[in-house]
Amino acid sequence: MPWHYWVLRKFATAEPPKEWEKILRLLKDILTAKYIDKIEVAAFSIRGKRIARWQLERIHPEYSTKSNAIGAAKKLTWLLLKSKNAPAISPKLYALLNEDKKFTEEIACCPVCKETIGFDDFKRSGRVDPMSIQMGHLIPLSRGKDGHNAHNVVWVHRRCNYIQDEQMIEETIETLCQILKRHGYEVSKMC
Ligand SMILES: [Zn+2]
Repeated sequence: MPWHYWVLRKFATAEPPKEWEKILRLLKDILTAKYIDKIEVAAFSIRGKRIARWQLERIHPEYSTKSNAIGAAKKLTWLLLKSKNAPAISPKLYALLNEDKKFTEEIACCPVCKETIGFDDFKRSGRVDPMSIQMGHLIPLSRGKDGHNAHNVVWVHRRCNYIQDEQMIEETIETLCQILKRHGYEVSKMC
């Protein structure tokens, strides 16, 4: 059993959502526990707390409904399996993750720096490696309501997540442009 649910079961009595358990059964054939843990922790729990997001108080910024958290888990699984050199998605898994075709078929990239994300990048150490992969939100949770959902979650480099901070992606790019300009670089957008 993946660590995350072991912890949740022991301390918070949260049961794995049934829909996720179906996906989990298929994921176990292609991903190691470390990869699955990464998805589960990002989608279902919050840092430093052994509690599921839907068990938080409604006003907590990290709160999400169970259904939004499952949506986030599906999207993060999809993006992880769309990273470069990731294992193939079987038709059965495809149907569970992306039946309504709302996720793109493109290779996953970091939304801030646009570099392609590789399957092995998920093994990088989050403690020391700026290119390690974290979960992020396109619209920061502080800027919207119920932002932890399939539409808003992404994988992002640790470095890029720090740069983005509480900014929208467009604001982040604008900040970087302003910094470059002040350093004497000419910045122009190619159309
Ligand atoms: Zn990046």
